[in-house]
Amino acid sequence: MWKIEDAIDLYGIERWGNGYFSFNKNGNLIIKPTKKDAQIIDLKNVIEHLTTKKIKFPILFRFPQILEAQIKELNGAFANSISEFKYNSTYQSAFPMKVNQRREVIEEIVKSGKKFNLGLEVGTKAELLAALSFELSPEAALICNGFKDDEYLKLALNSVKLKNKVIIVIDEYSETKRLLELSKSLGVKPLIGIRVKLYSKGSGKWAESGGESSKFGLTTAEMLDCIKTITDYDMIEQVQMLHFHIGSQITEIRRIQKAVKEAARVYAKIRNMHINIKYFNIGGGLGIDYDGSKTSSDASANYTIQEYANNVVYSLKDVCDEEGVPHPVILSESGRALSAYHSLLVINIKGNKNGNNKKQIELKGNEPHIIKEFYDGLKEISIKNYVEYYHDAIQHREELLSLFNLGEIELEDKSKGEILFYQICEKAASFARENVNKSDDFEDLNKLLSKKYIGNFSIFQSIPDFWAIKQLFPIVPVSRANEKPAEYGTIVDITCDSDGEIDKFVDLKDVKEILELHELNNGSYYLAILMLGAYQDTIGDYHNLFGAANEAHIIVDDRGEWHIKQIVNGDRNCDVLGYVKYNSNSLLTTFESELVQAQRDNRLSKTDAEGILNTYKDAMNQYTYMDL
Ligand SMILES: *Cc1c(COP(=O)(O)O)cnc(C)c1O
Repeated sequence: MWKIEDAIDLYGIERWGNGYFSFNKNGNLIIKPTKKDAQIIDLKNVIEHLTTKKIKFPILFRFPQILEAQIKELNGAFANSISEFKYNSTYQSAFPMKVNQRREVIEEIVKSGKKFNLGLEVGTKAELLAALSFELSPEAALICNGFKDDEYLKLALNSVKLKNKVIIVIDEYSETKRLLELSKSLGVKPLIGIRVKLYSKGSGKWAESGGESSKFGLTTAEMLDCIKTITDYDMIEQVQMLHFHIGSQITEIRRIQKAVKEAARVYAKIRNMHINIKYFNIGGGLGIDYDGSKTSSDASANYTIQEYANNVVYSLKDVCDEEGVPHPVILSESGRALSAYHSLLVINIKGNKNGNNKKQIELKGNEPHIIKEFYDGLKEISIKNYVEYYHDAIQHREELLSLFNLGEIELEDKSKGEILFYQICEKAASFARENVNKSDDFEDLNKLLSKKYIGNFSIFQSIPDFWAIKQLFPIVPVSRANEKPAEYGTIVDITCDSDGEIDKFVDLKDVKEILELHELNNGSYYLAILMLGAYQDTIGDYHNLFGAANEAHIIVDDRGEWHIKQIVNGDRNCDVLGYVKYNSNSLLTTFESELVQAQRDNRLSKTDAEGILNTYKDAMNQYTYMDL
């Protein structure tokens, strides 16, 4: 008997869900944005409600309370470590805007982070312009990173007059002089940070962001020159932050520890030069366990947030005490860790397909010998001989193809052979399941028999990192988790790109190439792709002109009832056309004149022309995805 616990285990939802996600006994995906059992959202209920409101799929769900909960968790973890190790200073964070610039997201983060002195980190002029619109607490830092031209520097310097703690980080040596000159001419003294290049590297996909060959940061020699130049300008008391960032999603805790220790020495040595660095900024890198394995695999991290905080605080304190320098304020620019959990995409499945065909094949007697082989194979396959018969069938299929290529087989017989082959495979697979045969052969067989579930979405728009860097995201059914999934599948999107297929799934031990899914019946089948809150919102693109998805922002109140905080409409066809510089009005004018010409030439009646025009106009305003 299939139980809900089996689904929870199969999809690993409580291993990677960080307490936010599970299935209820009705088999529905539930979200606990506050982690409290009294505040549970049954996503299927929300979906049913949105369907009555004619909100179309795909729909991106945001749960702002998850952002708040993550901010609390991160700050709570550092508070614990600080008190446990008797660290003599404080912790605060700055949310890096490149991880998710969406206004609603930043608004929520800024609001929930106020009591923790949470600030913002920007890397471009546009991000700085956006960041300047938020009111941060007086102690919060506004950190300016990235490559900086004079315009960026001027904008940053001018904001020093308005905001308390604008820290301009020298990410690159050449910025030093320009920053000092501009600051002199504008008559403003900014707080200055110095980004150091460490030998320590991260681990995982972004390991190369750190180390000697990293894109940003000053070498030791450059740092000393930089300090000298700043001293010459009489600005050394403005240097208050030491910064490093060894890459995102660091999978191994010892890498973090190593980097902190190395940077802590740099801090201590600078401190000993009587430069009063106040902030020790450890950058981003705090990893998220996307597959629930708690290992150093790319989709995971072998440490918790608490272990991260413990390592940072302990290692830093250790070096500072040894060197006899004060404990600095610890600052982190944790983006992924704060934002990843807060959003998920729900897609509806349009149908599924594979090479299988249930049609019963009868032989007329005049078929080529090879077809007879398949036919007998299907008749005689049993639990005793299925391994052998399956291997024979694979050989026969190759023979079938060579005979066809030699021109010896007609299409009719080729089709019979293919159908019989899949039917033998189905039988072999079911015998293998009965026998709990887990050999590689039968894993391949499951893959061969797996179905392509056609999902109404674009990977390129909604989960770009799956395409770009093969990052894994957990995927689960939104309902029916109380039924045993009877199929294996991959998920293809509706772009015309063969890369638009999800064929890698999170798994405890390995990466799965097929996912357990339910047989489609007459009802709708919805899948949720989770943990999309970090990086996916703006890295996504307009491939095939599929646009931003409709959004629903959901909160749950103290009585445990959910509410729609906001609906944000996704792009319409006219919107995406605008992004590639078509003006929908001029498109319409051109189309209308074609219709007029066609009527003049008597190729079209007036009524037909009106009908065509209305279809065209309607299409302009429709959602870019399929209306299923
Ligand atoms: C990208 C980036 C971050 C964010 O890293 P996460 O791993 O998402 O926390 C922080 N700081 C800098 C300088 C970055 O470039």
